[in-house]
Amino acid sequence: MFKKVDTNMNFVEREGEVEEFWRQNHIFEASIKEHEGDPSYVFYDGPPTANGKPHIGHVETRAFKDMIPRFHAMKGAMVPRKAGWDTHGLPVELEVEKQIGINGKEQIEKYGIAPFIGLCKENVWKYKGMWEDFSYKVGFWADMEHPYVTYHDDYIESEWWALKEIFKKKLLYEGFKVVPYCPRCGTPLSSHEVAQGYKELTERSAIVRFKAKDQDFYFLAWTTTPWTLPSNTGLCVNPDLDYAKVKAADGYTYVMACSLLDKVLGPLAKDGTPAYEVLETCKGTDLVGMDYEPLYDCAKEAAEKQHKRAHFVIADSYVTAEDGTGIVHIAPAFGEDDARVGRENNFPLIKFVDEKGRMTEETPFAGMRCKPTEKEIAAGAISADPEVLKDLSARKLLFDAPKFTHSYPHCWRCDTPLIYYARESWFIKMSAVKDDLVRNNNTVNWYPATIGTGRFGAWIENVQDWGLSRNRYWGTPLNIWTCPCCGKQEAIGSIQELRERSTNYDEVLARLKAEGKGGYSSDYVGYEHIELHKPYVDQITLRCPDCGGEMHRVPEVIDCWFDSGAMPYAQHHY
Ligand SMILES: [Zn+2]
Ligand SMILES: [Zn+2]
Repeated sequence: MFKKVDTNMNFVEREGEVEEFWRQNHIFEASIKEHEGDPSYVFYDGPPTANGKPHIGHVETRAFKDMIPRFHAMKGAMVPRKAGWDTHGLPVELEVEKQIGINGKEQIEKYGIAPFIGLCKENVWKYKGMWEDFSYKVGFWADMEHPYVTYHDDYIESEWWALKEIFKKKLLYEGFKVVPYCPRCGTPLSSHEVAQGYKELTERSAIVRFKAKDQDFYFLAWTTTPWTLPSNTGLCVNPDLDYAKVKAADGYTYVMACSLLDKVLGPLAKDGTPAYEVLETCKGTDLVGMDYEPLYDCAKEAAEKQHKRAHFVIADSYVTAEDGTGIVHIAPAFGEDDARVGRENNFPLIKFVDEKGRMTEETPFAGMRCKPTEKEIAAGAISADPEVLKDLSARKLLFDAPKFTHSYPHCWRCDTPLIYYARESWFIKMSAVKDDLVRNNNTVNWYPATIGTGRFGAWIENVQDWGLSRNRYWGTPLNIWTCPCCGKQEAIGSIQELRERSTNYDEVLARLKAEGKGGYSSDYVGYEHIELHKPYVDQITLRCPDCGGEMHRVPEVIDCWFDSGAMPYAQHHY
């Protein structure tokens, strides 16, 4: 048994011998077995991605991840160590796009989502062997024979369970983020990119008459983006400014900021007749809550469909009396301030512009472009702005359309004027659990302690709601089904529940089997089921319990950080 200590100083060779000994005699497995029944020490191995090669930084983390569990095992604890692989996400998609020579979402859809995700599934294992060799080589002990894999259906099902719990607590919600967006490229731009493309533009703005509901006066509001008017949801005043109701020389009664009366209404003065006569004055706050008639029926219908009150006056200090009328038209889908005050006042999200910058079917301006370039107009695009102005003018709702010049951001790639555009997204309401996060963080024994109080602590103190959804393909599908008729949303928490709630599960499964191109299996969960990935899971429909409509899954997948964060429970199935 005793082997004389070798004087051979070749450490690489010696390490190789030890590694081989461990492997052949299943020393790691034995070390686990030895501690069966002992108190456990829990170790969570955050999963690496195997579509990238291990690098020198991983040696350090793997050394730590081995040393501490090993120490506790030597002290007599049971330390299970399940290896895992992080497999979803955009980097995988980009690798596959490169591999097959395509670029962008449109080309992926043309190629076919099913074959595309098939390639993603292969791609994630590209460097698996290298990772395993590397892990053995640095003496990292973990159960690599039975790893958890974030794209397996049992893992995804566990995440669905968790997401449903979050949904039930009303902490998973659909919201939106307004971003600078190029309608031609179809992508949002970072603030750095936006800064590269400012240019002077001369355009027509609009001063619009919004008729007060059941009363004989109009709010005068100014906007620089007439194409956003069909999506109007509210009017915003400054709470502390003085406003006046005036009888104007054009016969109308208006409400607007006192300090801008002369500038806006002044030109109405004629032959000794004054431009206006002040009837009464008040503060902005006094106007809050007053209803007005929406400019377009489509906006009224959209608000009703979302069961939200819209088209009334709100107040916020960002409104100034520097230009315009002191009353700002609010379209939460098309401006950051608009989005913020919209959220604070629980306005509906009305967005009558599609991803290509075209006015949508609901409006009288279907297909027209907001902010087309000269080149696009020459090629036949119709600009929405002049058409909206014409329409309002014909309905006597346009007070004036003064020209103005401003510096406007353009896409640095293609020179198209950018628009501020709301992109729908699902969020986890982290802000609602901030106190718990802070309390938990304070119990963590950080080394060095400054991480807990510094970078990590500060991040938790300022925690934002988590933008969870991604408009991509290779990821855990978000398990929310919605009803197009009544807006009902439902979270599905398991494969079993999906099968029970679905109206066409067996039909879809039978079709996938007949096609013989995958999309179903008995893997991981032990019975035949439809794979929990796009495009398969998207074909499953439910019946709306409220109105009987046909519910479809939302198209999004989720942030792959939710995958890796689900590891504590998902590695063992929920
Ligand atoms: Zn562009
Ligand atoms: Zn319904």
